[in-house]
Parts: sequence; C-alpha cells; structure tokens
Amino acid sequence: MSTQSLSSPFSVQPDHLARVHRSLLQWYATEQRQLPWRVTSDPYAILVSEIMLQQTQVERVLPKYEQFLAAFPTLSALAAASTAEVISAWVPLGYNMRAVRLQSIARQVISEYGGRIPDNVEELLKLKGVGRYTAGAIACFAYHQHVATVDTNIRRVLHRIFLGIESPETQPNDTEMLKLAEQVLPNGAAYSWNQALMDLGATVCTSNNPQCTRCPLQQTCQAYTDMQAHSLFPSGVVLRHLRKVAEKKPPYQAQPFTSSNRYFRGRIVDRLRSVPTSQRLCLSELGPEIKADFHDDDIAWLRTIVAGLAKDGLVDYTEEGVRLP
Ligand code: SF4
Repeated sequence: MSTQSLSSPFSVQPDHLARVHRSLLQWYATEQRQLPWRVTSDPYAILVSEIMLQQTQVERVLPKYEQFLAAFPTLSALAAASTAEVISAWVPLGYNMRAVRLQSIARQVISEYGGRIPDNVEELLKLKGVGRYTAGAIACFAYHQHVATVDTNIRRVLHRIFLGIESPETQPNDTEMLKLAEQVLPNGAAYSWNQALMDLGATVCTSNNPQCTRCPLQQTCQAYTDMQAHSLFPSGVVLRHLRKVAEKKPPYQAQPFTSSNRYFRGRIVDRLRSVPTSQRLCLSELGPEIKADFHDDDIAWLRTIVAGLAKDGLVDYTEEGVRLP
C-alpha cells in the first residue's frame, strides 16, 4: 500500500510500512469498536462526537451523544437554541465550556458557511475553537478526505510503532508527529487507519500497560523490538521510560478537586440550570448554595469566578445577579 510523499524528519522503510498497514487494517476489520459516530457521515453528528470525546471517555459519551442529537438534531437547531438549553443538555459530561464552544461553532457555520460544515482542514481551522486534531477528524471521518490527524492515542501508537519506546530525550513535537502521521497515512484507507490507531491505543497499546502479546503489530513494532533487545519484560521497559517522562515534568502540588475553582465553576453552572432564565440569583444567595462554609468575605472570590464564567459565555452576569445565558 503506497503513501503520499511528504517531507518528514523520520525514516520509514516502505516494506515495514506495508506490513504495518496490512496488520493494523486487518485487525481493525474484525476488532473495531462499534460506535454510533462511525455509522454516520453527518458532519454535524461527527462534530458533536468529537467535541464530547475531548476530555471524556467513550463509555460516558455514548448515552449523551444520542440524547444530545435528539434534543438538537441539526446544526441549525443547535445554533437557534438558547445557550442555557445547550448547557443544560450537556449534563453530566462536565467541562461545560465545550457546550458553549460547540454552539458557537454551529452559529459561525450558519453565519459564514451557509450552514454547511467545511470539508477541508484549512477552512475548518477558521472555526473558533476547532484545533488541528478536530479539523482533521471531521475532514477524514465526515468527508473521507485523505487527512492525517493526531490525538493522544494516535501519537503514542505511532511513536511506538515507528520510533520506538517513548523517552524524554526523543519526544517529537506536534509538528513532527503530524508529519510522521502524514508520511505513514495509507492511500485509500485514511478513515480506517485513523480509527484503527485510536482503537489500538484505547484497547491494546494503552499508555501504562501495553498488551504487546495480543497486539497485531508485535512483529512490526519498533518499541517491541527495543524491549526484546533489552531482554526485559515488555511493559516493564515501557513503564520505566514512561516514569522517566513523568519525572521530567515539574512537581505537581495536588489540590483537592472539591476546593478547586473548576469544581465551583461546575457547581455554579449546575445550580443555575434549575433557575428560569427570566430570573437571576444574586451572589449572596448563590454563595451558600454552592459552598457549605460560604462567608461574606467569600463574595469577592465568588465574583471573580462568576466573572470568569461570564467571560467564557457560560453565564449571564449583571449587578442584579447571575443566570444561564
Ligand atoms: Fe504497543 Fe506493544 Fe503493540 Fe508495540 S507491540 S504497538 S508497544 S502494544
């Protein structure tokens, strides 16, 4: 299977690449996950799934994906809804900014593209809030374009197959990884290839516990070859290097989630879901409802959080109080 010719800092042997293509695509043909966004080519539905899958696992997205599309079956319906309705329909996915961003994308598509989601990466990147991964996913999964895309799973799997075990000294940057992804993209099979990489990363070649013994790429994977060369237990080698990567990161001072501002942002939005948009809650009412030990001194803190939510389009905040937009 041939590939497009793009400049890449990595050397990949054609016969090796052909074997990887064959093994992974054969595995995907029988082992692929059955996911509802894979049986549609509706760009809107695929956009919804991609935004939901950011920061949320597939199992939690599945029921909400169906419910959300039932509530807002078309891009026009989503654009025309009130933001309060969209935020309310997003429960319980969390990271409510994604709901606001999704609606904002829908409105931009209506106003600037006549309601048709663009079919190429260049135009998709002009949508506010659409990054390179999402643009590539929509172009490939909705319009079957020959486009590479790199998320966390794809990055990890490509690195292990073609470059070997991850190490802090040899971490390619995002541009380099995208070039590698483009270099190895099989002609005529971009959709299945990208989906297969994601499935393998999610189910077999996981971050901390790669299941090399049941992996279809065992005989063609550079990381596995490296492990054998060390004569060490496979996942032990990977984990040792992963720990090195982790050690390179600055020490993280964990803060209990329930005392973080992100927690209280979520609590505020949750509370406002039950407030009719014709009414507002003043901060002195809202404070004790979202924080058990709320004190008058906390008003300035609460005002800062609410102002941040308003700036992100998640609430409507005036001197009279706060409500969903
Ligand atoms: Fe990942 Fe192991 Fe498969 Fe290589 S052989 S792709 S490291 S699971």
